[in-house]
Amino acid sequence: MSRTIGITTAERIATGLVEGQELVGKLRVREEGPGTEPLLSTPPIGIAQCFAHEISAVAAGTHVDAIGIGVPGIIQECSIEESPNLRQLKGVNMKELVAEALREYGITAPVYIFNDANVLAAGLAATHGHLDRFIRVWTLGHGIGFGVYPPRPGIWEGGHVVVSLDPRERFCGCGGVGHLEGIMGHRAMRLRFLDMEPDEVFENARKRDQRCVEFVKLWHRALAAATANSIHLEGPGKFFICGFNSKHVDLNLLQQYLHEMVKMGPLQNYVFEMALSTDENAVIGAAVSAAQSVAIAPA
Ligand SMILES: [Zn+2]
Repeated sequence: MSRTIGITTAERIATGLVEGQELVGKLRVREEGPGTEPLLSTPPIGIAQCFAHEISAVAAGTHVDAIGIGVPGIIQECSIEESPNLRQLKGVNMKELVAEALREYGITAPVYIFNDANVLAAGLAATHGHLDRFIRVWTLGHGIGFGVYPPRPGIWEGGHVVVSLDPRERFCGCGGVGHLEGIMGHRAMRLRFLDMEPDEVFENARKRDQRCVEFVKLWHRALAAATANSIHLEGPGKFFICGFNSKHVDLNLLQQYLHEMVKMGPLQNYVFEMALSTDENAVIGAAVSAAQSVAIAPA
């Protein structure tokens, strides 16, 4: 059975040892406090050293087969092409930096860098018994994440697919017009409703405030549209929905809109499932992805 270490950097740095697809022991979580330097202002080599420190603490002197690290952004072949949250990592070969930092601890296991949304997809596939099929996951948080498992070549920035042709839809964090994130993202909702928080928008919609009612419909139609686009390109199947704003999803309304958008017979076999974007799922996903990368890498 493979012994791999997974790391997620989505909300905070959490690291865990995974045997097969199961977490062994407790997650190690690095809390950012007054004593620690925030990652945002840490240069790449410092981030690599921080990862190496966490990895060696979790390995605790035992052998591991591989290490998988989930990082937000566009990752191609373990190289970070764009990372909106950790901008200093753009263009950096983190795989090599972390491997080098690990040598100081005597750890020579191969290191792999993955997109954090794909890592979550792998974790959900592993914990739901879906490692043998294609699954997708929407993460409804500050931005909108889109992960796929198994990993496929491509960019997969599903949060930035265009779901509106209205030129006034310009609230996406990337600056693009008409994007899914520009409607559904937490940050985008705050920009749209300067006078209320996103939770209040949904609350007021339940109280029949017309502006909020219309927006909640748009919010669901946007997710249905993005899902319909994905179904028309990659086929039907399972879509997980998670993230802190998934609590606002009305599955019946979403299904109704999607049904209006997907009409071809062979594409009807789709299903939504609510899930949790926990550190555990992300760590398991990073570890499982690393184990699969070792298995397919030439010896
Ligand atoms: Zn965008």
